[in-house]
Amino acid sequence: MNKQNPQEFVKPDADLRMPNRLRSDFPILQRKVHGYPLVYLDNAATTHKPQVVLDRIQEVYKDGYSNIHRGVHYLSGVASQAYEDARKTVREFINAPHEHEVIFTGGATDSINLVAASFGDAFVQEGDEIIVSGMEHHSNIVPWHMMCRRTGARVRTLPVSENGTLEPATLKELISPKTRLVCLVYVSHVLGTVNDMQELIRLCHEQDVPVLVDGAQAVQHMQVDVRELDADFFVFSGHKIFSETGIGVLYGKEDWLDKIPPYRGGGGMISSVTMEQTSFGELPFKFEAGTANYVAAISLAAALDYVKQAGLDAIKAHEDDLLAYALDRLDELDGLTIYGNPPNRCSVVSFNLDGIHHYDAGMVLDKKGIAVRTGKLCAEPLLRRLGVDGVIRASFALYNSKEDVDQLIEGIKTAHNLFRA
Ligand code: PMP
Repeated sequence: MNKQNPQEFVKPDADLRMPNRLRSDFPILQRKVHGYPLVYLDNAATTHKPQVVLDRIQEVYKDGYSNIHRGVHYLSGVASQAYEDARKTVREFINAPHEHEVIFTGGATDSINLVAASFGDAFVQEGDEIIVSGMEHHSNIVPWHMMCRRTGARVRTLPVSENGTLEPATLKELISPKTRLVCLVYVSHVLGTVNDMQELIRLCHEQDVPVLVDGAQAVQHMQVDVRELDADFFVFSGHKIFSETGIGVLYGKEDWLDKIPPYRGGGGMISSVTMEQTSFGELPFKFEAGTANYVAAISLAAALDYVKQAGLDAIKAHEDDLLAYALDRLDELDGLTIYGNPPNRCSVVSFNLDGIHHYDAGMVLDKKGIAVRTGKLCAEPLLRRLGVDGVIRASFALYNSKEDVDQLIEGIKTAHNLFRA
């Protein structure tokens, strides 16, 4: 297989601003919805795929497909190499110290469930505490509840401050000798808050408490360095960073991954099996039972190459500019409430229109080809904290433009006119 050269797909035209330069790489963005050009502002739910990722998936199935780490035959070797190259690409992308600390999973949710099951088995007992913030996606709440049911531990909530952040001082007060693990989101999928993760982790480590970071909304928007963060566990999903669904990553410090047992048993994760017992394989294979979704892992590597080529600093600068523009334009409108006012925010804004149900507003926007997310956003505790039963969320990616924001504003005006008439 020819590994796609990232240079080949981004045209180095310095005169064109980012969204224009990259937009044409995403075939779906050329389509119309209800007769209107698609304005896709639901990137926190999932992102679209550039042609180079779609090509890579096809290329694997056409030229290099076979089961990995299973056979001595040529195609199995090609596929295995591409899968392990993908692991290397992920390691570099998040600056993990070792490739064997990168575990491929089914997604961020799957990664968190893995840690909840394995860490729970090894280190959590009745009376222990797990700290989870009130800003989490259900994916970083429910697995801890399930673990607590099994172990007799309990979840303690790190509250969300008035402006929508996680305060290090509040966390410090909550940590006790009973705390076994702290689970925090890096970037909120509802408020866009970028939490001061390095400081939050430092405080936990001062008291010898490990931290799991949910990076599902971080890696696609800014440089993430798990070594600099000093995260013990860090998770993200491929589909939110321009690759296929069904693939995710769990990064864990070698020391922790060595100490916790495997989550699932099966082929590929053993060193030997008798009818009496199993001895487990080395990292990372110990956590990768069964046939991996390896084509998706390879698609993730292609997506990360694409992001690297676009440049995370350039992506962040573009998205920050876009978010500031969106906040300004939304602010101009009457009868609109924006949620959260964190000092450091990226790529997401959630709001409601006075007197209009979020679902109705979403339907009006959809009829104009504008895709936003509406509802509880899998964050019921946070929405309860905000005092609402749903929101409208616009979330941006590297291919969005100020024209997309303008369309959103026009759509909101239409909803206002329709429902307030
Ligand atoms: N955490 C956050 C912050 C998210 O936004 C999401 C997805 N919306 C998840 C976890 C779960 O990701 P997935 O559904 O890909 O497992």
